[in-house]
Amino acid sequence: MFNKFLGKFSKDLGIDLGTRNTLVYTADKGIVINEPSVVAINTRTDEILAVGDEAKKMVGKTPGHIQAIKPLVDGVISDFEVTEKMLKYFIDKVHSENFTLIPRPRVVIGIPLDITEVEKKAVKDATKSAGARQVYLIEESMAAAIGSRLPVAEATATMIVDIGGGTTEISVISLGGVVAWKSMRQAGNSLDANIIQYIREEFNILIGDYVAEKTKIKIGSATVLREPMEIEIRGRDLINGLPKAVTVNDSQIREAIGKTINQIIENIKTTLEITPPELVSDVYEHGIILAGGGALLRGLDKEIAKATKIPVHIAEDPLTCVVRGAGILLSDEELLEKVISPDVNKL
Ligand code: ADP
Ligand code: MG
Repeated sequence: MFNKFLGKFSKDLGIDLGTRNTLVYTADKGIVINEPSVVAINTRTDEILAVGDEAKKMVGKTPGHIQAIKPLVDGVISDFEVTEKMLKYFIDKVHSENFTLIPRPRVVIGIPLDITEVEKKAVKDATKSAGARQVYLIEESMAAAIGSRLPVAEATATMIVDIGGGTTEISVISLGGVVAWKSMRQAGNSLDANIIQYIREEFNILIGDYVAEKTKIKIGSATVLREPMEIEIRGRDLINGLPKAVTVNDSQIREAIGKTINQIIENIKTTLEITPPELVSDVYEHGIILAGGGALLRGLDKEIAKATKIPVHIAEDPLTCVVRGAGILLSDEELLEKVISPDVNKL
């Protein structure tokens, strides 16, 4: 009752605490924060110098005593204190735009599937100490499905494949719960690593993470393209240590990332194998939905459809569907009750 009353005034938040990006959603404004999950810290004083976009700009350019920390690894908090500070910074940023003394927010926050009870509690505690009045944990894949307007609470099944920076989560959702799932550490970052390795082996050139990611986004693909593409990339010649440029094309990058793409496809197939047969037929009917930044890789949908013989759809705005799903739950109490991650209220 009291909560309902407070709810009218507080600015409740949906949060997607991603390995790569953190997004915050409010009911009245939609997505208000979409920044990298990075914090810059002065290691001499332990002082936080910058968070998000500002901190990312410092990565790789900072003097020795300034460290850029990514407090989440593979979707899980690896540095509790820094995560809490990062969340507090983002929550305060949303709240400071209001001059009134608004109550602390209720927060719906996404968690990965492959997470221990201790890690769940860590997310909950970090969110509470960052200023939340009440915290609801929701599986990211469930939030992604809700953000994609899939019928998660009905007696039908849908499959969602969320390819983020650190993890790929494959899940089958039915009647408000995740009925079969697989989580793997091969995701966007692995594709970048594949490209770095390929360029080193083929050209003896060392390129950085940023160049690898840019190459992937600009010309990366999972299927043969109608129009060939190429890009010039720069790195360090491993033989003489000097800067060197080389031109690579889409077919080389496809070769580089093929191993990871195949692993993702194999895991989708395995997940289908462990899904109860009556639900598999629902999945065939609805198709597989791709979410997360990796869903944007050219032709990945086609390649998965070819391998599984199931239609594949890319979620609308795949980078934001988790936070939009969390946002929808802020104003749908009934659905929230149905899909909330089990046991967390006892924590
Ligand atoms: P997380 O949930 O782990 O924070 P995101 O869902 O935000 O991750 O996805 C980030 C990943 O998506 C990164 O590896 C990034 O390189 C990749 N990505 C973003 N845009 C594209 C694109 N157009 N093509 C391929 N990969 C992309
Ligand atoms: Mg994500």
